[in-house]
Amino acid sequence: MKVYLDNGATTMTDPKVVKTMLSYFTKNFGNASSLHSWGEEAKKALENSRKIVAKALNAKPSEIIFTSGGTESDNLAIKGIAFHHGKGHIITSKIEHPAVLRSCKALERKGFEITYLDVDEKGFVNIEELESCISRETILVSIMHANNEIGTIQEISEIGKICCEKGIVFHTDAVQSFTKVPIDVERVKVDLISMSSHKIHGPKGVGALYIREGTMIEKLSDGGGHEFELRAGTENVSGIVGFAKAVSLCSKAHIDYMKELRDRLISRVLEEIPNTHLNGAMDKRLCNNANFSFEGVEGEAVLFHLNLKGIATSTGSACSSRDTKPSHVLEAIGLKSELLSGSLRLTLSRFNTKEEIDYCVDVLKEVVGSLREMGDKT
Ligand SMILES: *Cc1c(COP(=O)(O)O)cnc(C)c1O
Repeated sequence: MKVYLDNGATTMTDPKVVKTMLSYFTKNFGNASSLHSWGEEAKKALENSRKIVAKALNAKPSEIIFTSGGTESDNLAIKGIAFHHGKGHIITSKIEHPAVLRSCKALERKGFEITYLDVDEKGFVNIEELESCISRETILVSIMHANNEIGTIQEISEIGKICCEKGIVFHTDAVQSFTKVPIDVERVKVDLISMSSHKIHGPKGVGALYIREGTMIEKLSDGGGHEFELRAGTENVSGIVGFAKAVSLCSKAHIDYMKELRDRLISRVLEEIPNTHLNGAMDKRLCNNANFSFEGVEGEAVLFHLNLKGIATSTGSACSSRDTKPSHVLEAIGLKSELLSGSLRLTLSRFNTKEEIDYCVDVLKEVVGSLREMGDKT
């Protein structure tokens, strides 16, 4: 059996998405800026896609900028706000994705002041602490919606309220939560939202940034006047159409289905494999995320043996999975060093089945058991 449980890293492109995209390579291949019928077709597809993505956030189409993915959206949001101001203070957390953390590090080298907030043992930032860090110099707060490693969903409504009261721009990286945890921008006071297509069964290399109307932001690349003068470069029309199709295919039923599989996985693993810990929160957790630490075994060894049995998982996040350094997220939630190296992330999708989950737990039991036995002998 082949079982893909690494949907936090990337997802299978839904065949319906591929089918929708195909005509935009060969038949409707026009440049959306061209004035002839080919261009008009492309432009129509582009603007229809913008409407679909906007609707998912209850935003206006003019507030959606298509980008090359979550990383570019994070860079544009953070550096775009920073460069508009030229100097200032930014608040973020220690468990952000590298696209956010390294953007902040880059700004730090340019003289911006950055506060990296601690999180508690479940991965939540302390809202009072965040509020107390805000100063007259603060220009931006960037806190992710759902964490990619442990699945913790932050209270972005609360954070947004505080930022709004103080007149500070609030960005959230919603790459993991988009279409899984609803955000209504009419109700949640968030100014910038990063999204990515390939985490929701769309194609890779495309994503979007929501920019609330009136937010002062500087573009990062110069060129044509595409995307409301904020993101130069011929639009990836086929990719954008695929992204929008992927958004339109997501449903509440999928969320409930994934949650059911996730809960089955978590309860079976915790019950049947002794000395196992669940990292992250149980409520306020992404519907498709499970992250375990197995005492006395290396997460990498488990991953390796699961892979031999056809099961794809991850230690930490994909971006850092070739590093041997422990995960910055697991360190930030204060995991003891022996648990840090024993962690394994399993991330589900709507294409997984109950049979796959049961197979995975059975193999996991066997693998962890035999690794522990081997460890005892050496
Ligand atoms: C995957 C991911 C990104 C990066 O998105 P890409 O489209 O791969 O560039 C950013 N933030 C989070 C939380 C992610 O999970």
